Amino acid sequence: MAEKNKACVIGSPIEHSLSPVIHNAAYDHLKLNWFYDRHEVDETNFNEGVEELIQQDYVAFNVTMPGKEAAHNYCDITYGGASRLYSVNTIVVKNGKTHGYSTDGDGFVNFLKDENIDLSSNHFVIIGSGGAARSICDALFENGARISICARNLEKANEIIDTIKNAERDITNPHSSINAYELKNADELISNADVLINATPIGMHIDKEIEFDSPINLELLNSDQIVIDTIYSPLETPLLNKAKSLGCPVYNGIYMLLYQAALSFELMTGQKAPINIMRKALLEEINNRF
Ligand code: NAP
Repeated sequence: MAEKNKACVIGSPIEHSLSPVIHNAAYDHLKLNWFYDRHEVDETNFNEGVEELIQQDYVAFNVTMPGKEAAHNYCDITYGGASRLYSVNTIVVKNGKTHGYSTDGDGFVNFLKDENIDLSSNHFVIIGSGGAARSICDALFENGARISICARNLEKANEIIDTIKNAERDITNPHSSINAYELKNADELISNADVLINATPIGMHIDKEIEFDSPINLELLNSDQIVIDTIYSPLETPLLNKAKSLGCPVYNGIYMLLYQAALSFELMTGQKAPINIMRKALLEEINNRF
């Protein structure tokens, strides 16, 4: 039998990464001659770490924070959001060249499309101005969305806007708009959002305890809204719990995690990702761990 194609996730720390479970479930299901594991690679020795793995015949990598900028600098060629945000989470080695992609934002948009959440008619309100918010905003902007970022640090939110607006694009969608607001002054905006996205860690499990807190005043929610959390531990944050009780469609952080993995899988293997198989494996692993 031919040698297996080798892929892995790299970062530091890396031992808790869920990526091997998701990718290996897909390989098993499609009977692909691939295998996927994880390796500790520090961002400060990024190039040496990847080179060593390429010498060991690894042909595809996922990169976790904080190595995504180093990965961008390492790649021979970058594409789309990876070039715009200087951030690579997927590297594919092809014909001796390293190709860098970012699947966080595009994966998120694929998830919205699969759930029939319209990109051009809805007003998206994102809470937070960190890495997750940046990827989501860039991909939404690329796809013609009306976006408001609400952050406690207005300067960081404005930096995201500058990056997105100044980035080179083949075409700028004429319907796209993006503005920033201070979270503490954004109550009206939040209650008028069509799609509300939490991209902060507020509500996460901390030392196995859920932080019973929400990034917004929960009284601002109403049943006409779609509510998305980027957090997947716990699967239901206080924000999602309240939104669900009002009858809102709710989506936890599994969706973002799964869809970025699915797109990476497709770039690496050239095969359509078996998303339901990947979701099942991910949920089983999360339920076992947390
Ligand atoms: P990050 O770069 O550290 O950004 C965190 C953001 O949350 C910052 O804007 C921070 O504001 C804000 N924040 C933190 N505590 C806050 C508070 N008490 N009040 C208001 N804002 C607060 O982190 P990230 O990488 O963007 O991750 C954010 C969340 O997304 C995490 O929960 C992470 O688990 C989740 N995530 C999920 C996926 C997935 O695949 N599902 C992928 C990536 C991230 P300051 O800048 O003012 O500190």
